[in-house]
Amino acid sequence: MKFWFRIPLWQRVIGALVLGVIVGLLWGPGAESIKWIGDLFIRAIKMLVVPLIFFSLVAGVAAIGDLRKLGRVGGRAVGLFLITGLISVSLGLLLGAVIQPGAGLHLSPAAGSVPDKAPPGATDMILSMVPDNPVAAMASGDVLQLIVFSILFGIGIVMAKEAGLPIQRGVDAGAIVMQNVTMIVMELTPFGVFALIAWVAGSYGLDALLPLGKLVLTNYLGCLIIIGVVYAGMLKFVARLPIGDFFRGVIDAQAVAYSTASSSATLPVTMQCAQENLGVSRSVSSFILSLGATINMDGTAMYLGLATMFGAQIFGIDLTFTDYLLIAVTSTLGSVGAAGIPGAGLIMMTLVFGVVGVPLETIAFVAGIDRIMDMMRTATNITGDLTVTTTVAKMVGEIDVAEYVSAEDI
Ligand code: ASP
Repeated sequence: MKFWFRIPLWQRVIGALVLGVIVGLLWGPGAESIKWIGDLFIRAIKMLVVPLIFFSLVAGVAAIGDLRKLGRVGGRAVGLFLITGLISVSLGLLLGAVIQPGAGLHLSPAAGSVPDKAPPGATDMILSMVPDNPVAAMASGDVLQLIVFSILFGIGIVMAKEAGLPIQRGVDAGAIVMQNVTMIVMELTPFGVFALIAWVAGSYGLDALLPLGKLVLTNYLGCLIIIGVVYAGMLKFVARLPIGDFFRGVIDAQAVAYSTASSSATLPVTMQCAQENLGVSRSVSSFILSLGATINMDGTAMYLGLATMFGAQIFGIDLTFTDYLLIAVTSTLGSVGAAGIPGAGLIMMTLVFGVVGVPLETIAFVAGIDRIMDMMRTATNITGDLTVTTTVAKMVGEIDVAEYVSAEDI
């Protein structure tokens, strides 16, 4: 027991990941029988999301304390989210054009499957962000609505000044309590990761991946470029912080994102990494990470661009320059609108495909192997959230650089 706890959590998690792949490949589809352990882990971690976002975000906004500073932090974060999103879609389009993952696979669309070119429902997206009942938003776990309400609630506390203090102290205490609960649940991570990875490796096997291997590899390559070039570049040249310490500090969150394929479920771990390993202040990390887990998805944006190119290639559709622009805009919007749950990117494909007339059958084509790609894009998504959080924290002086550099394990 003592021996187990002496190994840092991230090493236990990585060990579980590797062991899970081996066991899954050897065991085959039978590995599904241990999937329940992974489901148990996901349930436990999801249990944290609503109270954690509420307490941390309200406490975070209230702790920033001054509305101008809040605007500065929020504005910078959203600006960086958008820039990295656009770079990522462009990369997806570029890789799609150069590697041509769909070349050689030719299909003709069945009648009636080509969607009309219709603009996406932007107004619906805006409307759905505002809850008509905050308690219902919490009960149903609608994260975006919860974020909108929590930010307003935090602003209300700031505006109330002295009168708001009792509530501020209450939410601060709530945030600390939720962090402790998170720590308990995180001890389940190695077991959950092991079971989930064994299940994925066992049910896909290597054969299932071969026909669409080029798409999977291009997707992984794109994500690695985003992490290794875009994020590393931002840390080095914009935040001016050492890169190695960052990646050592975020590995737990990456492993959990990779195995759960859900940014929302990973959020408690992402926050833990930012606060404990990267030295980002509680207020800034809670604020930007809660927002980022839902609206900043660079891996998803890249994948939407790539998948559209793939669909156009297998169905022999020529895309014009305007189409590329439309794909870039709708993919970025789609990645903002996608929920941080497994397979959300797949749903957003309907939006992008519809705009440029790529047959929806492409979705059926890639759905079978989506999980494998989803894992990688989710790991990218949360790495992006952590990169932007670290960069903005550095810009506004809310990072403890000594703690960042020491990057102690949780
Ligand atoms: N699963 C991804 C996430 O939670 C979203 C997606 O499907 O691309 O970040």
